[in-house]
Amino acid sequence: MQKTPKILIVDDERFNLNMLNGLLKNDYKIMVAINGEQALKAVNKALPDLILLDINMPGMDGFEVCQKLKHDPLTEAIPVIFISSYSSAADETRGLEIGGADYITKPFNPSVVLSRIKTQIRLKLQADLLTQYAYKDGLTQVLNRRSFDERLSYELQRCSRALSDFSLILIDIDFFKKYNDLYGHQQGDYCLQKIAQTLTSVCRRRSDQVARYGGEEFAMLLPDTNLQGAKAVAEATIKAVGDCQIQHSGGASSQKIVSISLGIAHIKPDQHITSEDVISMADRALYSAKLNGRNRYEVATRG
Ligand code: GH3
Ligand code: MG
Ligand code: MG
Repeated sequence: MQKTPKILIVDDERFNLNMLNGLLKNDYKIMVAINGEQALKAVNKALPDLILLDINMPGMDGFEVCQKLKHDPLTEAIPVIFISSYSSAADETRGLEIGGADYITKPFNPSVVLSRIKTQIRLKLQADLLTQYAYKDGLTQVLNRRSFDERLSYELQRCSRALSDFSLILIDIDFFKKYNDLYGHQQGDYCLQKIAQTLTSVCRRRSDQVARYGGEEFAMLLPDTNLQGAKAVAEATIKAVGDCQIQHSGGASSQKIVSISLGIAHIKPDQHITSEDVISMADRALYSAKLNGRNRYEVATRG
């Protein structure tokens, strides 16, 4: 089921807030703010799908609020509709030029406003879907390879600047070719989905990211995570996959269930290293885990 779109109404006059709220509350989830500062705070707490923005307010005016929203990567995609008593062409032009999606003058006709809002919400939800297709893997819903590459290089640079530890874990399902041969490709796909969900549930920090690296290989990006932390995550991951009890009569574990092998690459705060280097470290560790009997992790440190 689709979630109800969220609209933030920003107006310093209670009469206007109440009227718009009454108009929209049956179809949308409504948040309200009575000035610019409050609006920015509310947006950062829970991103709305649309903002209805008054211009003439004490303190920060609507133009300034819109400019701030459009300069922040987190909020720039939220459509803003100005609803203002300023009706000059110059004001309307200014509103649209600083990134407003639409401009409505007060007093307004409720049914016209409703349909203009509906249009912006439809466009926003479509754009969200496209963004999701662009950065997620279709089968498993974790990050796809392209987003993984982007995030890896971003986080490596960030951790290096912040003098923070960084860990990467590469994860490969053991004897997965045999799994497909034994249970069929469709069951194989189901297994990949289950493993992806399990990896996601193990990564609890907000900055942790799970990605599908290749066919049956996954990656976990663990920024600000030292070797001890990465090992704990690896152990928890092996255990969680074991707890899934996915039957695999040709598996590596004595229990005949699906298991995984992991390679940890850990980068100390003062090391400068490229994405390629950190991936090849993790790959090397993963290869050792396979050689040493699978269903385990190994670690590669630099040098
Ligand atoms: P190892 O324990 O050494 O990792 O052996 P393995 O059989 O898992 O490794 P190998 O690389 O030989 O085989 C990987 C298999 O993963 C082969 C391929 O059919 C399967 N695979 C890759 N992508 C998908 C997918 O999207 N769906 C399904 N069902 N299988 C996939
Ligand atoms: Mg593989
Ligand atoms: Mg494998």
